[in-house]
Amino acid sequence: MYTDGNFCQVKSDSPIQPEIDVALDEGRLKKNMKTCAFITLGCKVNQYETQAIRESLAAKGFVETTPEQAADLYVINTCTVTSASDEKSRQHIKKVKRKNPRATVVVTGCYAEADAETIKSIEGVDYVITKDKEACLAEIISRDTVHRVPAEESIYNLKISHFAGHTRAFLKIEDGCDMYCSYCIIPYVRGGIKSRRPQDILEEAKRLIQNGYQEIVLTGIHLGAYGKDVQGKYQLPDIVYMLSNLSDLGRLRLSSIEINEITTDLIDLVRHTKKICPHFHIPLQSGDDVILRRMNRKYSSSQYSELLDGIRAKMHLPSFTTDVIVGFPGEKEVHYQNTVDLCEKAGFSRVHIFPYSAREGTPAAKMTDHCQPQTIRQRKARLEVAAKNLVFSYKKQFVNSCAEILVEAERDIKTNKLCGYSERYIKVLFDGPDTIKNSIVSVRIDEITPSFTTGTLQ
Ligand code: SF4
Repeated sequence: MYTDGNFCQVKSDSPIQPEIDVALDEGRLKKNMKTCAFITLGCKVNQYETQAIRESLAAKGFVETTPEQAADLYVINTCTVTSASDEKSRQHIKKVKRKNPRATVVVTGCYAEADAETIKSIEGVDYVITKDKEACLAEIISRDTVHRVPAEESIYNLKISHFAGHTRAFLKIEDGCDMYCSYCIIPYVRGGIKSRRPQDILEEAKRLIQNGYQEIVLTGIHLGAYGKDVQGKYQLPDIVYMLSNLSDLGRLRLSSIEINEITTDLIDLVRHTKKICPHFHIPLQSGDDVILRRMNRKYSSSQYSELLDGIRAKMHLPSFTTDVIVGFPGEKEVHYQNTVDLCEKAGFSRVHIFPYSAREGTPAAKMTDHCQPQTIRQRKARLEVAAKNLVFSYKKQFVNSCAEILVEAERDIKTNKLCGYSERYIKVLFDGPDTIKNSIVSVRIDEITPSFTTGTLQ
Protein backbone atom coordinates (compact mmCIF):
# COMPACT_ATOMS: atom_id res chain seq x y z
CA MET A 1 0.00 0.00 0.00
CA TYR A 2 1.16 3.51 -0.74
CA THR A 3 1.70 5.92 2.04
CA ASP A 4 2.23 9.66 1.75
CA GLY A 5 5.94 8.97 1.50
CA ASN A 6 5.46 7.25 -1.83
CA PHE A 7 4.04 10.33 -3.46
CA CYS A 8 5.55 13.62 -4.19
CA GLN A 9 4.14 16.85 -5.44
CA VAL A 10 6.25 18.05 -8.33
CA LYS A 11 6.04 21.81 -8.60
CA SER A 12 6.28 23.17 -12.10
CA ASP A 13 7.27 26.67 -12.99
CA SER A 14 4.69 26.74 -15.79
CA PRO A 15 1.85 29.27 -15.48
CA ILE A 16 -0.67 26.62 -14.49
CA GLN A 17 1.42 25.54 -11.52
CA PRO A 18 0.43 21.87 -11.57
CA GLU A 19 0.78 19.77 -8.49
CA ILE A 20 1.29 16.32 -9.88
CA ASP A 21 0.87 13.31 -7.68
CA VAL A 22 3.42 10.89 -9.00
CA ALA A 23 4.60 7.64 -7.52
CA LEU A 24 8.32 8.04 -7.26
CA ASP A 25 9.16 4.42 -6.80
CA GLU A 26 11.03 3.82 -10.05
CA GLY A 27 10.85 0.08 -9.44
CA ARG A 28 7.15 0.15 -10.08
CA LEU A 29 7.56 1.59 -13.54
CA LYS A 30 7.77 -0.97 -16.27
CA LYS A 31 10.59 -0.41 -18.75
CA ASN A 32 8.66 -1.67 -21.77
CA MET A 33 5.12 -0.78 -20.87
CA LYS A 34 3.35 -1.29 -24.17
CA THR A 35 -0.25 -2.41 -23.83
CA CYS A 36 -3.01 -0.44 -22.20
CA ALA A 37 -6.71 -0.86 -21.42
CA PHE A 38 -9.40 1.59 -20.37
CA ILE A 39 -12.35 1.41 -18.04
CA THR A 40 -14.65 4.41 -18.21
CA LEU A 41 -17.46 5.06 -15.79
CA GLY A 42 -20.06 7.80 -15.95
CA CYS A 43 -21.12 10.22 -18.63
CA LYS A 44 -20.27 11.03 -22.23
CA VAL A 45 -17.86 13.74 -21.09
CA ASN A 46 -15.83 11.07 -19.29
CA GLN A 47 -15.91 8.98 -22.46
CA TYR A 48 -14.60 11.95 -24.39
CA GLU A 49 -11.78 12.40 -21.88
CA THR A 50 -10.89 8.70 -22.03
CA GLN A 51 -10.71 9.01 -25.81
CA ALA A 52 -8.30 11.96 -25.48
CA ILE A 53 -6.13 9.93 -23.08
CA ARG A 54 -6.33 6.90 -25.41
CA GLU A 55 -5.01 8.96 -28.30
CA SER A 56 -2.22 10.50 -26.24
CA LEU A 57 -1.10 7.03 -25.09
CA ALA A 58 -1.28 5.69 -28.65
CA ALA A 59 1.02 8.52 -29.68
CA LYS A 60 3.48 7.26 -27.05
CA GLY A 61 3.40 3.77 -28.61
CA PHE A 62 0.84 2.03 -26.41
CA VAL A 63 -1.33 -0.62 -28.03
CA GLU A 64 -4.85 -0.97 -26.70
CA THR A 65 -6.36 -4.22 -25.46
CA THR A 66 -9.74 -4.79 -23.83
CA PRO A 67 -10.00 -4.56 -20.02
CA GLU A 68 -10.64 -8.33 -19.93
CA GLN A 69 -7.23 -9.03 -21.44
CA ALA A 70 -3.94 -8.68 -19.61
CA ALA A 71 -2.45 -5.22 -20.16
CA ASP A 72 0.64 -3.47 -18.84
CA LEU A 73 -1.28 -0.32 -18.02
CA TYR A 74 -4.88 0.24 -16.97
CA VAL A 75 -6.48 3.66 -16.96
CA ILE A 76 -9.64 3.82 -14.88
CA ASN A 77 -11.63 6.99 -15.55
CA THR A 78 -13.93 7.23 -12.56
CA CYS A 79 -17.27 8.83 -11.79
CA THR A 80 -18.54 10.27 -8.52
CA VAL A 81 -22.07 11.35 -9.39
CA THR A 82 -23.55 9.08 -6.69
CA SER A 83 -22.05 7.18 -3.78
CA ALA A 84 -22.74 4.03 -5.81
CA SER A 85 -20.48 5.42 -8.57
CA ASP A 86 -17.66 5.82 -6.02
CA GLU A 87 -18.14 2.23 -4.90
CA LYS A 88 -18.19 0.98 -8.50
CA SER A 89 -14.99 2.92 -9.22
CA ARG A 90 -13.27 1.34 -6.21
CA GLN A 91 -14.44 -2.13 -7.26
CA HIS A 92 -13.01 -1.70 -10.75
CA ILE A 93 -9.66 -0.55 -9.36
CA LYS A 94 -9.42 -3.52 -6.99
CA LYS A 95 -10.55 -6.02 -9.61
CA VAL A 96 -8.03 -4.84 -12.16
CA LYS A 97 -5.19 -5.08 -9.67
CA ARG A 98 -6.34 -8.49 -8.40
CA LYS A 99 -6.41 -9.91 -11.92
CA ASN A 100 -3.21 -8.17 -13.04
CA PRO A 101 -0.94 -7.71 -10.04
CA ARG A 102 1.99 -6.61 -12.22
CA ALA A 103 0.07 -4.00 -14.18
CA THR A 104 0.42 -0.27 -13.61
CA VAL A 105 -2.89 1.22 -12.50
CA VAL A 106 -3.75 4.84 -13.19
CA VAL A 107 -6.89 6.36 -11.72
CA THR A 108 -8.33 9.60 -13.00
CA GLY A 109 -11.75 11.23 -13.46
CA CYS A 110 -14.29 12.81 -11.13
CA TYR A 111 -13.85 10.44 -8.18
CA ALA A 112 -10.08 10.95 -8.32
CA GLU A 113 -10.77 14.66 -8.25
CA ALA A 114 -13.21 14.44 -5.35
CA ASP A 115 -11.36 12.02 -3.11
CA ALA A 116 -7.78 11.36 -4.21
CA GLU A 117 -6.77 10.33 -0.69
CA THR A 118 -9.16 7.37 -0.58
CA ILE A 119 -7.99 6.21 -3.99
CA LYS A 120 -4.33 6.51 -3.01
CA SER A 121 -5.07 4.26 -0.06
CA ILE A 122 -6.29 1.44 -2.31
CA GLU A 123 -3.54 -1.12 -2.59
CA GLY A 124 -1.91 -1.23 -6.00
CA VAL A 125 -2.87 2.19 -7.30
CA ASP A 126 0.21 3.62 -9.01
CA TYR A 127 -1.00 7.05 -10.09
CA VAL A 128 -3.89 9.29 -9.18
CA ILE A 129 -4.15 11.95 -11.85
CA THR A 130 -6.50 14.84 -11.35
CA LYS A 131 -8.56 16.30 -14.17
CA ASP A 132 -6.36 19.27 -14.88
CA LYS A 133 -3.53 16.90 -15.67
CA GLU A 134 -5.43 14.42 -17.83
CA ALA A 135 -4.00 16.05 -20.93
CA CYS A 136 -0.52 15.23 -19.62
CA LEU A 137 -1.32 11.71 -18.47
CA ALA A 138 0.69 10.05 -21.20
CA GLU A 139 3.71 12.25 -20.43
CA ILE A 140 3.44 11.57 -16.72
CA ILE A 141 3.36 7.83 -17.24
CA SER A 142 6.05 7.69 -19.85
CA ARG A 143 8.00 10.10 -17.65
CA ASP A 144 9.31 12.11 -20.56
CA THR A 145 8.22 15.46 -19.25
CA VAL A 146 7.15 14.74 -15.76
CA HIS A 147 8.88 17.73 -14.23
CA ARG A 148 7.39 20.26 -16.56
CA VAL A 149 3.87 20.38 -17.85
CA PRO A 150 3.53 22.92 -20.66
CA ALA A 151 0.84 25.48 -20.00
CA GLU A 152 -1.01 24.65 -23.18
CA GLU A 153 -1.41 21.04 -22.01
CA SER A 154 -4.20 21.89 -19.61
CA ILE A 155 -7.62 20.27 -19.51
CA TYR A 156 -8.81 22.84 -22.04
CA ASN A 157 -6.60 21.20 -24.53
CA LEU A 158 -7.77 17.62 -24.46
CA LYS A 159 -8.37 16.71 -28.06
CA ILE A 160 -9.57 13.78 -30.10
CA SER A 161 -9.61 12.56 -33.69
CA HIS A 162 -11.70 9.39 -33.23
CA PHE A 163 -14.34 8.11 -30.83
CA ALA A 164 -13.47 4.45 -30.32
CA GLY A 165 -16.33 1.98 -30.21
CA HIS A 166 -18.97 4.50 -31.30
CA THR A 167 -20.61 5.28 -34.62
CA ARG A 168 -21.22 8.91 -33.64
CA ALA A 169 -18.53 11.08 -32.10
CA PHE A 170 -19.04 13.18 -29.00
CA LEU A 171 -17.28 16.49 -29.15
CA LYS A 172 -16.81 18.21 -25.80
CA ILE A 173 -17.09 21.96 -26.10
CA GLU A 174 -17.44 22.90 -22.45
CA ASP A 175 -16.53 21.72 -18.96
CA GLY A 176 -17.81 22.61 -15.51
CA CYS A 177 -21.09 23.83 -14.10
CA ASP A 178 -22.21 26.66 -11.86
CA MET A 179 -25.81 25.61 -11.29
CA TYR A 180 -25.37 23.88 -7.93
CA CYS A 181 -28.44 21.69 -8.13
CA SER A 182 -28.88 20.57 -4.54
CA TYR A 183 -28.41 16.86 -5.27
CA CYS A 184 -25.32 17.18 -7.47
CA ILE A 185 -21.64 17.12 -6.56
CA ILE A 186 -20.36 17.98 -10.03
CA PRO A 187 -19.83 21.78 -9.61
CA TYR A 188 -17.65 21.05 -6.56
CA VAL A 189 -15.63 18.50 -8.53
CA ARG A 190 -15.33 20.01 -11.99
CA GLY A 191 -15.53 23.68 -11.04
CA GLY A 192 -17.12 26.50 -13.03
CA ILE A 193 -17.80 26.92 -16.75
CA LYS A 194 -14.82 26.53 -19.08
CA SER A 195 -15.56 26.93 -22.78
CA ARG A 196 -13.31 25.66 -25.53
CA ARG A 197 -12.26 28.08 -28.22
CA PRO A 198 -14.40 27.98 -31.38
CA GLN A 199 -11.27 27.42 -33.48
CA ASP A 200 -10.31 24.31 -31.47
CA ILE A 201 -13.86 22.97 -31.77
CA LEU A 202 -13.88 23.56 -35.51
CA GLU A 203 -10.55 21.81 -36.01
CA GLU A 204 -11.67 18.86 -33.92
CA ALA A 205 -14.93 18.56 -35.87
CA LYS A 206 -12.94 18.57 -39.13
CA ARG A 207 -10.63 15.82 -37.84
CA LEU A 208 -13.61 13.68 -36.83
CA ILE A 209 -15.32 14.18 -40.18
CA GLN A 210 -12.11 13.34 -42.00
CA ASN A 211 -11.94 10.12 -40.02
CA GLY A 212 -15.37 9.08 -41.21
CA TYR A 213 -17.75 10.24 -38.48
CA GLN A 214 -21.06 11.23 -40.00
CA GLU A 215 -22.65 12.49 -36.81
CA ILE A 216 -21.18 14.76 -34.16
CA VAL A 217 -22.88 15.18 -30.80
CA LEU A 218 -21.98 18.40 -29.01
CA THR A 219 -21.46 17.72 -25.36
CA GLY A 220 -20.39 19.33 -22.11
CA ILE A 221 -21.16 19.20 -18.43
CA HIS A 222 -23.45 22.20 -18.80
CA LEU A 223 -23.66 22.57 -22.54
CA GLY A 224 -26.14 25.46 -22.61
CA ALA A 225 -23.79 27.61 -20.51
CA TYR A 226 -21.17 27.52 -23.27
CA GLY A 227 -19.56 30.96 -23.59
CA LYS A 228 -20.69 32.21 -20.18
CA ASP A 229 -17.08 32.37 -18.97
CA VAL A 230 -16.20 34.70 -21.85
CA GLN A 231 -19.15 37.00 -21.21
CA GLY A 232 -21.10 35.52 -24.10
CA LYS A 233 -18.47 36.52 -26.69
CA TYR A 234 -19.54 33.34 -28.39
CA GLN A 235 -22.48 31.16 -27.44
CA LEU A 236 -23.88 27.74 -28.19
CA PRO A 237 -25.90 28.82 -31.27
CA ASP A 238 -22.67 30.29 -32.75
CA ILE A 239 -20.96 26.92 -32.44
CA VAL A 240 -23.98 25.04 -33.78
CA TYR A 241 -24.15 27.40 -36.75
CA MET A 242 -20.41 27.19 -37.40
CA LEU A 243 -20.39 23.38 -37.44
CA SER A 244 -23.62 23.04 -39.41
CA ASN A 245 -21.82 24.83 -42.25
CA LEU A 246 -19.25 22.05 -42.58
CA SER A 247 -20.26 20.56 -45.90
CA ASP A 248 -18.96 17.04 -45.20
CA LEU A 249 -20.71 16.70 -41.87
CA GLY A 250 -23.73 14.37 -42.05
CA ARG A 251 -25.53 15.71 -39.04
CA LEU A 252 -25.17 17.45 -35.72
CA ARG A 253 -26.93 16.65 -32.45
CA LEU A 254 -26.99 18.40 -29.11
CA SER A 255 -26.61 16.39 -25.94
CA SER A 256 -28.27 17.51 -22.72
CA ILE A 257 -29.42 21.13 -22.51
CA GLU A 258 -31.31 22.96 -19.75
CA ILE A 259 -34.78 24.28 -20.54
CA ASN A 260 -33.90 27.91 -19.76
CA GLU A 261 -30.91 27.80 -22.09
CA ILE A 262 -32.87 26.91 -25.21
CA THR A 263 -33.03 30.28 -26.88
CA THR A 264 -35.13 31.43 -29.83
CA ASP A 265 -31.89 31.60 -31.86
CA LEU A 266 -31.19 27.97 -31.13
CA ILE A 267 -34.73 26.83 -31.90
CA ASP A 268 -34.68 28.74 -35.19
CA LEU A 269 -31.34 27.23 -36.13
CA VAL A 270 -32.63 23.70 -35.53
CA ARG A 271 -35.82 24.53 -37.37
CA HIS A 272 -34.11 25.88 -40.48
CA THR A 273 -31.07 23.59 -40.70
CA LYS A 274 -31.80 20.07 -41.87
CA LYS A 275 -28.42 18.91 -40.65
CA ILE A 276 -29.25 19.63 -37.01
CA CYS A 277 -31.29 16.84 -35.44
CA PRO A 278 -34.73 17.93 -34.16
CA HIS A 279 -33.93 16.19 -30.89
CA PHE A 280 -33.68 17.97 -27.53
CA HIS A 281 -32.55 16.20 -24.38
CA ILE A 282 -33.90 18.48 -21.64
CA PRO A 283 -33.51 17.28 -18.04
CA LEU A 284 -36.82 17.68 -16.23
CA GLN A 285 -35.80 16.09 -12.89
CA SER A 286 -39.22 16.83 -11.36
CA GLY A 287 -42.55 18.07 -12.61
CA ASP A 288 -43.43 19.64 -9.29
CA ASP A 289 -42.53 23.23 -8.39
CA VAL A 290 -41.93 22.55 -4.69
CA ILE A 291 -39.46 19.79 -5.52
CA LEU A 292 -37.84 21.82 -8.31
CA ARG A 293 -37.15 24.61 -5.80
CA ARG A 294 -35.70 22.13 -3.30
CA MET A 295 -33.53 20.79 -6.11
CA ASN A 296 -32.39 24.36 -6.81
CA ARG A 297 -33.48 24.00 -10.41
CA LYS A 298 -34.07 27.39 -11.99
CA TYR A 299 -37.40 26.88 -13.78
CA SER A 300 -40.99 26.00 -13.02
CA SER A 301 -43.01 23.11 -14.36
CA SER A 302 -45.17 25.49 -16.42
CA GLN A 303 -42.07 27.14 -17.99
CA TYR A 304 -40.88 23.68 -18.95
CA SER A 305 -44.17 22.65 -20.62
CA GLU A 306 -44.61 26.00 -22.34
CA LEU A 307 -41.20 25.86 -23.95
CA LEU A 308 -41.86 22.36 -25.24
CA ASP A 309 -45.16 23.54 -26.70
CA GLY A 310 -43.34 26.48 -28.29
CA ILE A 311 -40.77 24.21 -29.96
CA ARG A 312 -43.47 21.79 -31.07
CA ALA A 313 -45.35 24.63 -32.73
CA LYS A 314 -42.27 25.51 -34.76
CA MET A 315 -41.09 22.12 -36.05
CA HIS A 316 -42.43 18.77 -37.16
CA LEU A 317 -42.63 16.20 -34.36
CA PRO A 318 -39.47 17.17 -32.47
CA SER A 319 -38.11 14.51 -30.17
CA PHE A 320 -37.89 15.37 -26.48
CA THR A 321 -35.92 13.10 -24.19
CA THR A 322 -35.33 13.73 -20.52
CA ASP A 323 -33.94 12.73 -17.10
CA VAL A 324 -36.17 12.42 -14.05
CA ILE A 325 -35.21 11.83 -10.43
CA VAL A 326 -37.84 10.03 -8.37
CA GLY A 327 -37.95 9.97 -4.59
CA PHE A 328 -36.10 13.25 -3.99
CA PRO A 329 -36.20 14.21 -0.27
CA GLY A 330 -39.61 15.57 0.63
CA GLU A 331 -41.30 14.16 -2.49
CA LYS A 332 -44.88 13.28 -1.51
CA GLU A 333 -47.28 11.30 -3.67
CA VAL A 334 -48.84 14.53 -4.95
CA HIS A 335 -45.44 15.87 -6.07
CA TYR A 336 -44.61 12.58 -7.75
CA GLN A 337 -47.98 12.56 -9.52
CA ASN A 338 -47.24 16.05 -10.88
CA THR A 339 -44.06 14.62 -12.41
CA VAL A 340 -45.96 11.76 -14.04
CA ASP A 341 -48.59 14.20 -15.36
CA LEU A 342 -45.97 16.53 -16.81
CA CYS A 343 -44.16 13.63 -18.48
CA GLU A 344 -47.42 12.58 -20.12
CA LYS A 345 -48.15 16.12 -21.26
CA ALA A 346 -44.63 16.51 -22.63
CA GLY A 347 -44.93 13.36 -24.77
CA PHE A 348 -41.30 12.36 -24.22
CA SER A 349 -39.70 9.96 -26.66
CA ARG A 350 -37.35 8.59 -23.99
CA VAL A 351 -37.17 9.03 -20.21
CA HIS A 352 -34.13 8.15 -18.10
CA ILE A 353 -35.42 7.54 -14.61
CA PHE A 354 -33.03 7.83 -11.69
CA PRO A 355 -34.00 6.73 -8.19
CA TYR A 356 -32.74 9.45 -5.86
CA SER A 357 -29.60 8.42 -4.05
CA ALA A 358 -28.00 10.74 -1.51
CA ARG A 359 -24.63 12.11 -2.53
CA GLU A 360 -22.47 12.98 0.45
CA GLY A 361 -21.32 16.60 0.32
CA THR A 362 -24.46 17.96 -1.32
CA PRO A 363 -27.22 20.03 0.33
CA ALA A 364 -29.87 17.42 -0.54
CA ALA A 365 -28.02 14.74 1.39
CA LYS A 366 -28.46 16.86 4.53
CA MET A 367 -32.23 17.22 4.07
CA THR A 368 -34.10 15.42 6.79
CA ASP A 369 -37.14 14.07 4.95
CA HIS A 370 -35.69 11.33 2.76
CA CYS A 371 -38.11 8.92 1.08
CA GLN A 372 -38.19 5.27 2.02
CA PRO A 373 -36.19 3.06 -0.39
CA GLN A 374 -39.31 1.00 -1.07
CA THR A 375 -41.29 4.13 -2.03
CA ILE A 376 -38.50 5.19 -4.39
CA ARG A 377 -38.45 1.75 -6.01
CA GLN A 378 -42.22 1.73 -6.50
CA ARG A 379 -42.26 5.23 -7.97
CA LYS A 380 -39.50 4.33 -10.38
CA ALA A 381 -41.38 1.21 -11.51
CA ARG A 382 -44.63 3.16 -11.98
CA LEU A 383 -42.95 5.89 -14.00
CA GLU A 384 -41.23 3.28 -16.13
CA VAL A 385 -44.62 1.91 -17.19
CA ALA A 386 -45.90 5.41 -18.01
CA ALA A 387 -42.69 6.21 -19.92
CA LYS A 388 -42.93 3.03 -22.01
CA ASN A 389 -46.41 4.03 -23.16
CA LEU A 390 -45.22 7.55 -23.98
CA VAL A 391 -42.33 6.34 -26.07
CA PHE A 392 -44.60 3.94 -27.96
CA SER A 393 -47.16 6.71 -28.66
CA TYR A 394 -44.44 9.04 -29.92
CA LYS A 395 -42.87 6.45 -32.23
CA LYS A 396 -46.22 5.27 -33.67
CA GLN A 397 -46.55 8.61 -35.44
CA PHE A 398 -43.74 7.63 -37.79
CA VAL A 399 -45.19 4.45 -39.31
CA ASN A 400 -45.01 4.63 -43.12
CA SER A 401 -42.75 7.66 -43.08
CA CYS A 402 -39.08 7.80 -44.01
CA ALA A 403 -36.32 8.43 -41.52
CA GLU A 404 -32.65 9.24 -42.03
CA ILE A 405 -30.75 6.49 -40.24
CA LEU A 406 -27.10 6.56 -39.25
CA VAL A 407 -26.20 2.88 -39.61
CA GLU A 408 -24.32 1.46 -36.64
CA ALA A 409 -21.03 -0.33 -37.19
CA GLU A 410 -22.37 -3.47 -35.46
CA ARG A 411 -25.44 -5.46 -36.50
CA ASP A 412 -28.21 -6.08 -33.98
CA ILE A 413 -27.10 -9.13 -31.96
CA LYS A 414 -30.54 -10.79 -31.71
CA THR A 415 -31.77 -10.37 -35.30
CA ASN A 416 -28.51 -9.87 -37.23
CA LYS A 417 -30.23 -6.96 -39.00
CA LEU A 418 -28.56 -3.64 -39.56
CA CYS A 419 -29.60 -1.07 -37.02
CA GLY A 420 -29.27 2.63 -36.52
CA TYR A 421 -30.76 5.76 -35.05
CA SER A 422 -32.92 8.30 -36.80
CA GLU A 423 -32.51 12.06 -36.54
CA ARG A 424 -35.11 11.88 -33.74
CA TYR A 425 -33.17 9.12 -32.02
CA ILE A 426 -35.52 6.27 -32.84
CA LYS A 427 -33.68 2.98 -33.18
CA VAL A 428 -34.69 1.13 -36.37
CA LEU A 429 -33.80 -2.42 -37.51
CA PHE A 430 -33.68 -3.22 -41.22
CA ASP A 431 -32.04 -5.48 -43.81
CA GLY A 432 -29.15 -4.24 -45.91
CA PRO A 433 -25.52 -4.78 -46.87
CA ASP A 434 -22.53 -4.20 -44.59
CA THR A 435 -21.25 -1.61 -47.05
CA ILE A 436 -23.70 1.00 -45.74
CA LYS A 437 -22.47 0.78 -42.15
CA ASN A 438 -21.43 4.19 -40.79
CA SER A 439 -23.40 6.05 -43.44
CA ILE A 440 -26.72 7.86 -43.32
CA VAL A 441 -29.43 6.15 -45.34
CA SER A 442 -33.14 6.59 -45.87
CA VAL A 443 -35.34 3.90 -44.29
CA ARG A 444 -39.12 3.61 -44.44
CA ILE A 445 -40.54 2.72 -41.05
CA ASP A 446 -42.85 -0.29 -41.39
CA GLU A 447 -43.65 -1.56 -37.95
CA ILE A 448 -43.45 -0.16 -34.46
CA THR A 449 -44.01 -2.28 -31.37
CA PRO A 450 -43.31 -1.34 -27.74
CA SER A 451 -40.00 -3.21 -27.99
CA PHE A 452 -38.66 -2.57 -31.50
CA THR A 453 -39.06 -0.66 -34.76
CA THR A 454 -38.42 -2.17 -38.16
CA GLY A 455 -38.10 -0.60 -41.58
CA THR A 456 -37.10 -1.05 -45.21
CA LEU A 457 -34.03 0.46 -46.81
CA GLN A 458 -35.09 2.89 -49.57
S1 SF4 B 1 -26.86 21.34 -14.08
FE1 SF4 B 1 -27.25 20.59 -12.02
S2 SF4 B 1 -27.27 18.35 -12.29
FE2 SF4 B 1 -26.25 19.19 -14.10
S3 SF4 B 1 -24.03 19.13 -13.59
FE3 SF4 B 1 -24.84 21.18 -13.05
S4 SF4 B 1 -25.36 20.99 -10.88
FE4 SF4 B 1 -25.17 18.91 -11.67
